[in-house]
Amino acid sequence: MHKSHLQPKRGFATRAIHAAYEAQNDQGALTPPVHLTSTFTFESVEEGAARFAGDAPGHFYSRISNPTVAILEQRMASLEGAEAGLATASGMGAITALMWSLLRPGDELITDSHLYGCTHAFFHHGLTEFGIRVRHVNLSDPAQLEEAISESTRIVYFETPANPTMRLVDIEAISRIAHRHGAQVVVDNTYATPVLTRPIELGADFVVHSATKYLGGHGDLVAGILLGSEEQIHKVRLTGLKDFTGAVMSPFTAFLVMRGLKTLEIRMQRQSASALAVAHWLERQPQVKRVHYPGLESFPQHALARRQMSDFSGIIAFELTGGLEAGRAFMNRLEMVQRAVSLGDAESLIQHPATMTHSVLTPEERAEHGISDALVRLSVGLETPEDILADLAQALEQAQE
Ligand SMILES: *Cc1c(COP(=O)(O)O)cnc(C)c1O
Repeated sequence: MHKSHLQPKRGFATRAIHAAYEAQNDQGALTPPVHLTSTFTFESVEEGAARFAGDAPGHFYSRISNPTVAILEQRMASLEGAEAGLATASGMGAITALMWSLLRPGDELITDSHLYGCTHAFFHHGLTEFGIRVRHVNLSDPAQLEEAISESTRIVYFETPANPTMRLVDIEAISRIAHRHGAQVVVDNTYATPVLTRPIELGADFVVHSATKYLGGHGDLVAGILLGSEEQIHKVRLTGLKDFTGAVMSPFTAFLVMRGLKTLEIRMQRQSASALAVAHWLERQPQVKRVHYPGLESFPQHALARRQMSDFSGIIAFELTGGLEAGRAFMNRLEMVQRAVSLGDAESLIQHPATMTHSVLTPEERAEHGISDALVRLSVGLETPEDILADLAQALEQAQE
């Protein structure tokens, strides 16, 4: 086991590049080798048995662990300030493996009402089928959790900023209430990344990520990762991941995610700066009715954003005064900004939650989640900021005609 990820005093970018790998342990290879192997050989039956029993170090099968994937897991643990990490085939793989490991029939899950569409579907149409109670609470108001939480609440789950409305949740305040009632806190940190917010340092028990988004950062993979305590991650590895879902990450994907991590900090800085400029610009346009972006003074939770985030990320949700039709016309006239779901890529991406990412919700559920038919979500990319603004401007102008 490499322990270099336990040197927390090195800077974030340094750890994103170096943590958990020593080239001299791998023939001097600068880049960690990709161990494309399903299984691992034992020197003797006895040694194999010891590895299986956990009495000897070493890997035995890549559905449980793999040397390349392990570097990513330890590197991400270092970045999130967690003891351990567990890489998965997708963000949904991380969320499902965790929930199947922690919950039993009769347990209750409390979740914020603003959620990624598939997470909502899994909680509502999956977990509830297995005797788990799922309750929606507006966690942006901690008093509502205090009111709703009960003896059977095992988990409090939320995103901050939340998909797609950018609503924030106060991680410290929610963790304090949850822990007083014996519940564990899970934060989906996909939007902020550990560059901007580190939920475990603020009291959360687990962090989940869609590494498909900012962590990978190049729109070329689907991946997830879960962070938490050594003991709990070990349990999820051997139950939720190994036996219940099998949703493991391939070593090649781990290599790609690590390549993305090397530039995570500078990408988040650039995307946050560009998004702030775009959000300010959008706010000044007469055709724009509302802009949801934590970096704007007009954002209702701007004070919390300043306290909890070191910058405001690259995602903006907004509505045009002309509603759905105007939004559609605007999106169809964009020339550089790409019409696509997902976010956090080098390319600026725009999508329409009501008919795309959140189409699995009923219209009533969408209303509850704050998703109007007119809402569009923009993930600001790494292109030259002036070009992003110019494309938005020409599309707005043409859509009006
Ligand atoms: C994309 C996303 C997910 C799901 O991740 P996949 O990698 O697509 O499985 C979960 N939460 C949030 C906030 C997301 O944006």
